[in-house]
Amino acid sequence: MGSKKLMENAAKRNDSGEKMEEKIIYIAGLGLIGGSLALGIKRGHPHYKIIGYNRSDKSRNIALERGIVEEATADFKEFAPLADVIILAVPIKQTIDFIKILANLELKENVIITDAGSTKFEIVKAAEKYLKHKPVQFVGSHPMAGSHKSGAIAANVNLFENAYYIFCPSSLTKSSTILEMQEMLSGLNARFIEVDAQEHDKVTSQISHFPHILASGLMEQAGDYAVNHQLTNRFAAGGFRDMTRIAESEPGMWTSILLSNAEAVLERISDFKGRLDEIAEFIDQGDAEAIWHFFDNGRQKRKEMEIHKRGGVDSFYDIYVDVPDRENVILEILELLRGTSLVNIHINEENRDDINGVLHISFKTEADLIRAQKLISQNTTYNVYLD
Ligand code: NAD
Repeated sequence: MGSKKLMENAAKRNDSGEKMEEKIIYIAGLGLIGGSLALGIKRGHPHYKIIGYNRSDKSRNIALERGIVEEATADFKEFAPLADVIILAVPIKQTIDFIKILANLELKENVIITDAGSTKFEIVKAAEKYLKHKPVQFVGSHPMAGSHKSGAIAANVNLFENAYYIFCPSSLTKSSTILEMQEMLSGLNARFIEVDAQEHDKVTSQISHFPHILASGLMEQAGDYAVNHQLTNRFAAGGFRDMTRIAESEPGMWTSILLSNAEAVLERISDFKGRLDEIAEFIDQGDAEAIWHFFDNGRQKRKEMEIHKRGGVDSFYDIYVDVPDRENVILEILELLRGTSLVNIHINEENRDDINGVLHISFKTEADLIRAQKLISQNTTYNVYLD
């Protein structure tokens, strides 16, 4: 479909013949993030035109087949002049290259340009530098949800449900820019928040970038150790698995994240080295009290964090059940809870590799929680506790 046809199609009328507000949203990069954003935008605004760019045929064709976009191009420049909003959902370095290309294109006046990159300062800085003479708006974005999967095939309309969607304003952000973005993204059901780009990069270096380094480092260490200690692989269980899950992430993305946030990441590495030296010293000196405080401090800090809330949403009513590693045990408990609505259920093995698993069930109401506690205690021999 040519550009003219796309523009005509964007002007639609509803059943009463009134003209609906129509927008053309151009998503460059139809991978996990770009594809999921497209699906979420469409859910909130079925009449918006969503068009896309993708370098490879594969995701482009999948995006068309799945109805993620209505039109797709392999030439980034082709659709940019048509768009009311341009979302760059490609790797960080490519995002900056596309910003440079946009600087030399004839775009719609007041077009909103945004991105999805996992680091923000370099991108916001590039937009301010290259777009400053153009009549455009730019706001940095980081939709904070992901998956180990990639490509349009993995796009999921619910990916950003309850997730933080971070806006990092630039000198090209107007007071209305973020409001317009929130309106456009209403179908994502995300939680919007505004953060300075540098502060974003500092905080994510601590809670995301550095943990990825630790997880991969731990995996490398254990893998090397397993060469001469073969039981390493066999004994690694729940706790080790939880600590290293993110070591399966895509290496290319993480390379660009570390390189675009080097200063903050290096600072966190240096801080952690000091902490490792400290605990090594306590062990070397046999200082039981200091070691106890080290673990107690970690335990207290973890309890205070939002990770105890599901997806950051305020706490549900949680119950924990010690369950033996036996066939049908979960089915047995679920059968008892028939008729009670569960919010979430998972098995937590982290501290109990050698004994039981802990079945963690969340309920919406206190009444459901009390009912469940009673039913499980009365009908099984399993330990049931609330904290
Ligand atoms: P993805 O691999 O699923 O998709 C990336 C897309 O970019 C693909 O469509 C690919 O064809 C395209 N692409 C890659 N290199 C390109 C190049 N040189 N030129 C043109 N196109 C290119 O990755 P994704 O997870 O959707 O990541 C996209 C962006 O979102 C990245 O900036 C990433 O930092 C950010 N992000 C990722 C996550 C996550 O967990 N996956 C979370 C939040 C933000």
